[in-house]
Amino acid sequence: MPIDPTLPYDDANIFAKILRGEIPCSKVYEDEWALAFHDINPQAPTHILVIPKGRYVSWDDFSASGSAEEITGFVRAVGAVARAAGHVEPGYRLLANIGMDAHQEVPHLHVHLFAGKPLGPMLA
Ligand code: IMP
Repeated sequence: MPIDPTLPYDDANIFAKILRGEIPCSKVYEDEWALAFHDINPQAPTHILVIPKGRYVSWDDFSASGSAEEITGFVRAVGAVARAAGHVEPGYRLLANIGMDAHQEVPHLHVHLFAGKPLGPMLA
């Protein structure tokens, strides 16, 4: 079910539990600002989720109220994950679903990183 993006942050969401170490993940990267792990239902040979450590529902509240350090740290972490996974060449795709129309399912900001095959043209 897609989330209602107007709801406040829910500390019971699955990515909050992963951040607290309450449920496992297949971790590929972690630093002060971000955690990255393999998607449990991969849609490409490489499908990694990168999440900020702060309590943000989506790109909307993160971009509006995240600190400069959090935003810089998160953006750098996404790039570091892509480089570490070896996908700068021949390329990769980043995607963030925000709210109902985008069918965001987990109410903690996450950026999908897809790679490992020709991904085709961007979907609408
Ligand atoms: P969304 O539609 O952009 O919110 O994507 C949520 C993503 O989280 C989906 O691709 C799910 O497969 C993924 N996901 C849900 N639960 C877990 C988990 O426990 N570990 C890793 N990925 C998960």
